[in-house]
Amino acid sequence: MDGLRIRVRGQVQGVGFRPFIWQLARRFGVTGEVLNDPEGVLIHACGADLDAFVAAITSDAPPLARVDAVETASHVFDDTPTTFEITASQGSGAETRVTPDAATCPDCLADIRGSDPRRAGYAFTNCTHCGPRFTILHGLPYDRAKTTMGVFEMCADCAAEYADPADRRFHAQPVACAVCGPQLWLDHGEDVIARAAERLLAGEILAIKGLGGFHLCCDATHADAIATLRTRKHRPTKPLALMGRWEEIAAHATPSPEERAALSSSAAPIVLLAHQSTLPDALAPGQDRLGWMLPYTPLHHLLLDTVQRPLVMTSGNLSGEPQVIGNDEAVEKLGGFADGILSHNREIARRLDDSVMQVTKHGPMILRRARGMVPDTLPLPPGFEKTRQVVAFGAHLKSAICLVKNGQALLSHHLGDLDDPLTWDEFVKADADYAALFDHHPEVFACDLHPGYRSSQHAAARAGGALVEVQHHHAHLTACLAENGWPLEGGPVAGIILDGLGLGSDGTIWGGEVLLGDYAGFARAAHLKPAPLPGADMASREPWRNLLARLDQAGLSDVADTMLPDAPRDVLRQAMAKGVNAPLSSSAGRLFDAFAALLGFSGAQSFEGEAAMLLEAMALRADGGAGGPYPFGETDGVIDPAPMWKAAIADLRQGTDKSLMALRFHSGLAHAFAATAQRLVIAGNAKAVALSGGCFQNALLLDLTISALGDVPVLLHTKVPANDGGLALGQALIAAATDRRDR
Ligand code: ZN
Ligand code: ZN
Ligand code: FE
Repeated sequence: MDGLRIRVRGQVQGVGFRPFIWQLARRFGVTGEVLNDPEGVLIHACGADLDAFVAAITSDAPPLARVDAVETASHVFDDTPTTFEITASQGSGAETRVTPDAATCPDCLADIRGSDPRRAGYAFTNCTHCGPRFTILHGLPYDRAKTTMGVFEMCADCAAEYADPADRRFHAQPVACAVCGPQLWLDHGEDVIARAAERLLAGEILAIKGLGGFHLCCDATHADAIATLRTRKHRPTKPLALMGRWEEIAAHATPSPEERAALSSSAAPIVLLAHQSTLPDALAPGQDRLGWMLPYTPLHHLLLDTVQRPLVMTSGNLSGEPQVIGNDEAVEKLGGFADGILSHNREIARRLDDSVMQVTKHGPMILRRARGMVPDTLPLPPGFEKTRQVVAFGAHLKSAICLVKNGQALLSHHLGDLDDPLTWDEFVKADADYAALFDHHPEVFACDLHPGYRSSQHAAARAGGALVEVQHHHAHLTACLAENGWPLEGGPVAGIILDGLGLGSDGTIWGGEVLLGDYAGFARAAHLKPAPLPGADMASREPWRNLLARLDQAGLSDVADTMLPDAPRDVLRQAMAKGVNAPLSSSAGRLFDAFAALLGFSGAQSFEGEAAMLLEAMALRADGGAGGPYPFGETDGVIDPAPMWKAAIADLRQGTDKSLMALRFHSGLAHAFAATAQRLVIAGNAKAVALSGGCFQNALLLDLTISALGDVPVLLHTKVPANDGGLALGQALIAAATDRRDR
């Protein structure tokens, strides 16, 4: 009997794909078999209506599946099958077969709000279309015994659901019910949700165990509770994330259709939404946006359904440390912050922060890539097919690592700032963890050029083969090329890289560059005129130091004297003159800081990017474009901000609205860099312009730069962060390109 052999590629394992195929086969009267193998899902099918069957594989795929390809070939059956069966997996070879954690699906939400006592009000309800995955995983293959659900023996009812291909919980590894699954507690006693809600409404702070770690939670409408949380956490101004159902979000924001899509995606990330609410200012002082997420576990839904108001959900950690995941650790570390701990006996195997994103005019933008977004893979661009296995170790802040194997890149979750000893431990563990999970045996290693980064030192110690040291901003450029599928032989691109700090090829610190190149190499086509960073690291914390350096450089020392009367100007000027503890830098991030200081940001930043975020928020309040962009000079590829400072000081003296000044600054910087990059394209030296670096998290700067570029083809980040969180991807591809050339 003639039939078809159907190969399905993509994210098709652990998402209910085989039962879906089984049900399709019944619908179309198809007989044969379906199974998992190392390449994905394989189907042998015969029947009268195979065309419709094949079409439905893509059109009707389950919610968490991603079908990349359906390939068919003829298949001859020795004996015509009379039934359709799910048969045993074939072949070994651990691939990236774990799906990311997924927010509670509508059917499970109906179950917890329903009347079946096994699931009504049950905080660990899940199915094949939703629930924990990567956060409960100890190792591959992904089955219950290798997860933190392994210790819970299924009751007869759960076992029946698990075994029934017609059931939504068929082979759902974390399947559980109130009879057999994990249980909640809040100190002692019953009615955990009701008591937690009562305590939150009374202004208490609770530590609550989520999917990838503990949150600290309080009533977001309760100003005293927020103030207490900020004091206890020593977190004076950093924005706090909020969780609310659609009802709560709609009462305080007006998400666009794209923002609604981002909020309701299975990753359920924090999405930054315009702040138009009566909620306390203390949630995000001075910011124009608040970060919102929907409830993404049954526990969150039960809590929100009871309190019916937005909740603060900020990561439960000691300042600078990774989020707490263990129950004992929560008592020890969060006991001092929280009035109570709402926890349970399902362990978290892997720490994952909430993902953060925003939607700009130009699409989605990921600011932090973590829960719900990993371990998803990106296909490598054309030309990288036969690349050897690579591991790249990223930067120092916002660290993440990247693995390349079998034509795919796997960018790890956000690991954090490697200055913190516990984050550093996590980083080393994550390296081993990902290597084991994905059966990865790298032959090529990549890291940043900066020898002082712990990630670089780790790479040097780890490298059993070739070690490729990659210039920081070159890696930003190629991270952007890679996620856009720019081919290995696609030709040079002009990268506008506006960033914080990264070691340059000439030994100075870069961060405001136009790089012309591709995966194979680059030239520094233009850059912001370097200025000293007085006090080195201190200059990253205290914006006024950069204002002093830049005003002096622009010949405006008298203005600096007036504006910074109490600063140790003489000491710093001497240090800058002698080059002592005042390295030169072309960083655009520090120019943002300097301008924020001009407009009144005083003292130290309490979190990275604070001054620049306030400047962006200020610029967005400008109601007219009068005056246009501030002028920047340019000579031989050196972009000089001196004319900008002179124009800004004139504005300041005339009492120009500061919002308008902030806008003119953004616009001036965008125009100066866009003009340079555009010229490279028009002259035929570059085929497109790529925008990367941490400053491009600033949606206004991004938009103004794209407008200033006109018709030139532009490549943007939408899948990996423009900040250092995406750096490892770029490093990995440069290392792969270098390795191909050298062999
Ligand atoms: Zn579900
Ligand atoms: Zn059960
Ligand atoms: Fe960077």
